[in-house]
Amino acid sequence: MGAGLSGLVAAREIARAGHSVAVLEARSRVGGRMLDQPIAGGEVVDLGAEFIGPTQNHIRALVDELGIATFPSPNEGQNVYLAGGRRMAYSDTGPTGTAPPDLALLTDLLLAIPQLNSLSLRVGAEAPWDAPGAAQLDSQSLETWLRRNSPAGQRFMDVARAATRPIFGAEPRELSLLFVLFFIAASGDERTVGTFERNFNTRNGAQQDRIDGGTQQIATKLAEGLGRRVIRRSPVRRIVTGRGYVDVISDRYVNRARRVIVALPPVLAGRIRYEPALPSLRDGLTARMPQGHLIKIQAIYERPFWRGDGLNGSSISDAGPINVTYDSSPRSGAPGALLGFVGGDEARAFTRLSRDARRRAALESLARGFGARARDPIAYFETDWAAEPYTRGCPVAIAPPGVLSTYGRALREPIGRLYWAGTETSTYWNGYMDGAVRAGRRAAREVLERL
Ligand SMILES: Cc1cc2nc3c(=O)[nH]c(=O)nc-3n(C[C@H](O)[C@H](O)[C@H](O)COP(=O)(O)OP(=O)(O)OC[C@H]3O[C@@H](n4cnc5c(N)ncnc54)[C@H](O)[C@@H]3O)c2cc1C
Repeated sequence: MGAGLSGLVAAREIARAGHSVAVLEARSRVGGRMLDQPIAGGEVVDLGAEFIGPTQNHIRALVDELGIATFPSPNEGQNVYLAGGRRMAYSDTGPTGTAPPDLALLTDLLLAIPQLNSLSLRVGAEAPWDAPGAAQLDSQSLETWLRRNSPAGQRFMDVARAATRPIFGAEPRELSLLFVLFFIAASGDERTVGTFERNFNTRNGAQQDRIDGGTQQIATKLAEGLGRRVIRRSPVRRIVTGRGYVDVISDRYVNRARRVIVALPPVLAGRIRYEPALPSLRDGLTARMPQGHLIKIQAIYERPFWRGDGLNGSSISDAGPINVTYDSSPRSGAPGALLGFVGGDEARAFTRLSRDARRRAALESLARGFGARARDPIAYFETDWAAEPYTRGCPVAIAPPGVLSTYGRALREPIGRLYWAGTETSTYWNGYMDGAVRAGRRAAREVLERL
């Protein structure tokens, strides 16, 4: 179920092993949280997933295998930092890296980030619910921990919020500390310890590279390989397990299968009716892991004018609605594109504005970072993934305090003939395309062992 990256990868593995498989997809398109938008010059911009980076070996290998090119994210020039109404340009090769070199932040940064990195070693990416002290780490939010463990001046809390909004689509108060530590540990691979910096940075981090021609083509190519086995416009509503079979009932068909992989975010998996009913731990998990709320803005210009000003398009701001931006221009550099993330409380406030007011507010944010020319794009796109019935938020499911330690073990444990995929079930790079590929392969392996 689900022709996002995870479901398609799982189906391909099963087809390759010589078994019959069908992928039921609710939408009329494949790719889920990967979506390309055509723009001028025959180019596209990504309205969903966009970047890949070091240690994301599974998505990298898949992209190579499909013959899709990548290119480095534009990273020449300076980053922009806006705080307390002031603007500063700085290089991410300085001593603080991507973090802004603001003296008002430095003590807190130097205290908090290394501590979070080292605590994440204790938690690991495999089974955070079994980590020593898991319940205690899970009993507090990231916000409570930041306030207790660093002097946490207001400036630092504002920047922490500006970071959690794009990463999780959530505020520090909504995130369990255990979950954040798991997410940091997951920003690596089996041989490389995860770090906050690898997650957040462009240089040597998760924003390092782009997919030439957009990420949705990864899904489109996988779906082409599967041909008529991918069935679009078929939202699944019920799953009935009988003796020796499972019936998957969508709006269009009843498909009888031996095993089923549910490759959806937990909150959507929880909206399917299961017969017999799912065990309480699994049902409890799906009721407690909402998707983050992240809106992605793409503003398109004749050319990337900020490059001429010595800027690389990356910015972080304590004022909304956009807290973080990147240069999202296609490889050719024409047209230019700036992407802006509106997340957490900013996203919730943004959705209450009229369409015109939203556009004005977003472009004003960009103008504060990049000057008046940012107010006049040739095209403007905003995607509110929380409003999409078959996504309901992004980039990833989040765990509030008390959930991961109690319900986490139900994330990927098969139940009878039902198996769970989707990036939210991954160990490393949970929430990312790499995690979606890993999860699809793992679920396919589990099924193949039983066929
Ligand atoms: C704005 C944004 C920015 C992001 N940036 C990045 C990035 O830069 N790098 C990165 O690696 N990742 C990024 N991500 C995350 C990335 O998109 C996801 O990790 C990945 O695409 C998840 O794939 P998936 O297959 O697990 O889930 P999905 O893509 O959500 O796929 C689930 C599929 O199931 C379908 N479905 C839902 N309900 C039903 C039903 N009842 N019946 C049948 N089908 C159903 C959906 O339509 C969808 O196609 C971003 C996501 C967003 C939205």
